[in-house]
Amino acid sequence: MSDGHDGDWREARLRARLDALRAQDLERRRRVIEGYVDGAPGSVHPVVDGRELLSFCGNDYLGLARDARVAEAFAAAARRWGAGSGASHLVTGHHAEHHALEEELAAFVQRPRAVLFSTGYMANLALATTLVGRDGHVLEDRLNHASLLDAGRLSGSTFARYAHLDADEAARLLAARNGGEALVLTDGVFSMDGDVAPLPALAQACATHRAWLAVDDAHVLGARGGGALEVLGCTVHDVPVLVGTLGKAFGTFGAFVAGSDALVELFVQRARSYVYTTALPPAVAAATRAALALVRDEPWRRERVAAHVARFRAGARSLGLALLDSQTPIQPVIFGEPATALAASEALRERGLLVAAIRPPTVPAGSARLRITLSAAHAESDVDRLLDALASLPRASGRAA
Ligand SMILES: *Cc1c(COP(=O)(O)O)cnc(C)c1O
Repeated sequence: MSDGHDGDWREARLRARLDALRAQDLERRRRVIEGYVDGAPGSVHPVVDGRELLSFCGNDYLGLARDARVAEAFAAAARRWGAGSGASHLVTGHHAEHHALEEELAAFVQRPRAVLFSTGYMANLALATTLVGRDGHVLEDRLNHASLLDAGRLSGSTFARYAHLDADEAARLLAARNGGEALVLTDGVFSMDGDVAPLPALAQACATHRAWLAVDDAHVLGARGGGALEVLGCTVHDVPVLVGTLGKAFGTFGAFVAGSDALVELFVQRARSYVYTTALPPAVAAATRAALALVRDEPWRRERVAAHVARFRAGARSLGLALLDSQTPIQPVIFGEPATALAASEALRERGLLVAAIRPPTVPAGSARLRITLSAAHAESDVDRLLDALASLPRASGRAA
């Protein structure tokens, strides 16, 4: 048995690793959200350390996370079905709420069928492991979401990354492969940069070289909410596999893969991250059904975010801030070094604004940033308040060269 000294070397090693993170300004801290300001819409007015803040770092782009109708659908379904699903989908976890949500999601993205996953991370794992075998190839954009990159690595297939947005390099890598299924995986909207993948060019490369194209689109862009595919005019033929996450614009939790009947059936049969895990609680599916109806029927939410994006970009440009080329609700301001981004985040927080500093390894070294996200739950005056606060930052930080 341990005499109390055995564990010392383990603690020392763990501490040394944590200390190294702190020394590089890479230590992360979780903020405890203690509540939300009474009567405020969405999730952009959290209370942290007893203080009411205005948040520009959540993913509740359409302001649905705390919508009363979504919450009521959740509560009513919890009363009816209980808190959990009780089993995996293939055993006894697949409830009427899941089934109806799958049908409604398929209709929304105009594809024959959709299957629910518990998270986007798990849906992405399923893509890379189900569609290509160990003798296959997975190609990914260098700046894809971590879950897609992990999926590629874990798939056991030959895994390569092409330069950000570089469809030509993707085509060259596809042409150079010697046999085996190939899968090109890309974010629709890149989650840390806010730019959009060159889907028509990737679709062309995949058609030429007989490869699958799968797009992970977590953001409901476009007039209809059809995302990057709608904005770029891509068809089901161009992008046969579509992944959507439900924890962001939809304000709830979970994810789905949509495509042909055979594609979805193969996931149901073989995707390990589908088969070997507990189904989402049915109440979560019910809440998402309510959220989906609002995404579909309340286009003003998308219009409002788009107006905030335009207002923010015009204001930030006149302040000379280093913006990226993003027309999406994700509006990063690049600072470079982690310490500078962190100092900017702290300075904003002193003014009651919550904006996360994003540092490596989430983003490449030298591109630490404030990741500003806008939401339909923001008011125009909130955007102006953010711009005022950014204007007051020390000149050295966050300015274009
Ligand atoms: C957030 C996100 C994910 C992860 O989805 P979760 O449901 O949070 O696991 C995957 N891909 C992209 C592009 C994302 O933005």
